[in-house]
Amino acid sequence: MFKEETLRRFRTIRTPFYYYDMDLLGETLSSCSKEAGRYGYGLHYALKANSNTEILSRISKSGFGADCVSGNEIRAAINNGFHPGGIMFSGVGKSDEEIRLALELKIESINVESRQEMEVINELAGAMGVTADISLRIIPNVDAQTHRYITTGLEENKFGILPWEFDEVLEKLKTLAHLRLKGLHFHIGSQITDLDVFKSLCHRVNEINAWFISNRVNAEIINVGGGLGIDYGDPERYPVPDFFSYFRIFKNFIELQGNQQLHFEPGRAIVGQSGSLIAKVLFVKKGVATRFAIIDAGMNDLIRPALYQSYHKIENLTSREATEKYDVVGPICESSDCFGKSVTLPKTSRNDLLAIRSAGAYGQTMSSGYNLRDLAGTVYSDVE
Ligand SMILES: *Cc1c(COP(=O)(O)O)cnc(C)c1O
Repeated sequence: MFKEETLRRFRTIRTPFYYYDMDLLGETLSSCSKEAGRYGYGLHYALKANSNTEILSRISKSGFGADCVSGNEIRAAINNGFHPGGIMFSGVGKSDEEIRLALELKIESINVESRQEMEVINELAGAMGVTADISLRIIPNVDAQTHRYITTGLEENKFGILPWEFDEVLEKLKTLAHLRLKGLHFHIGSQITDLDVFKSLCHRVNEINAWFISNRVNAEIINVGGGLGIDYGDPERYPVPDFFSYFRIFKNFIELQGNQQLHFEPGRAIVGQSGSLIAKVLFVKKGVATRFAIIDAGMNDLIRPALYQSYHKIENLTSREATEKYDVVGPICESSDCFGKSVTLPKTSRNDLLAIRSAGAYGQTMSSGYNLRDLAGTVYSDVE
């Protein structure tokens, strides 16, 4: 819940805006670093979850590397304190310009997602007279048991290289003089809440790693991606994800060679619970079977419910009256512009403030100016 003084502050700020609890971000970072630190695991923050300057500089100060999926994310990482030697670059569709940028900056690894991409990186690296450090992004065919739009580790997904291609990949690598294979990379999806999924991932990674070792490729980095989910249903109960159990699964099930380092790329788990979207109620309208609370934030500010049918807890911050049910909707001209159906809230009236919780990840970074709307503002708990 928000403190009285925070609410007073909210009253003075133009809505809608994203509010970030920087103390919670700090706690989450410490917990993640501490639990990964027990086993010496490497951490790279996935910038696409949230790339606000204040948040990036806080995360880089905590000693994380960065996982980027565009040239601009690489630039943002470097501008906010991440060291180029700790930056990974993933993505199925990297432009030549982005690959050249990664090579110029000598980042830790370019995560290659197809055989053709290997050839292109080799050619560009050759022309620049450098050797490219690469990892192979591999499809392990492990089902993340999450929404299909955020599942990335199945054969039908566009990401990565399939196991039946491995022979050809190794043959080709021998002919590509400007590439150095540094790692194997896996990322099977996002908002994974069943930790057994990670156990299955470990088993597949072990098999695949063993295949490479038997073919005399000993990758120094085994990168198992991100994906750890957060508790959207009850953000107060577990504000900090269970990093202890998460890393322990890998400790128990992954089999590494002495020289191999395990890396992780959490995004959502780091920033998700720290952010809320704060909006004002514009109108309350009686429908046929329901009441609509029409707020001044829309799907352009937070698209997750419209895009993935995702749930966000919604709270009325200013009413203490008896509860009623509302469909909480935005002003955008799309029927999918709905943040929650049949939401139980204290009686809600014009000018009440609502908080849409757990919006720190894939909220602001996915926002747009659709309907020519202004972008939501940004407020940090530790900045006046
Ligand atoms: C999106 C992404 C991540 C982060 O995923 P989360 O579910 O936010 O932890 C990590 N690695 C890669 C390659 C990604 O594309």
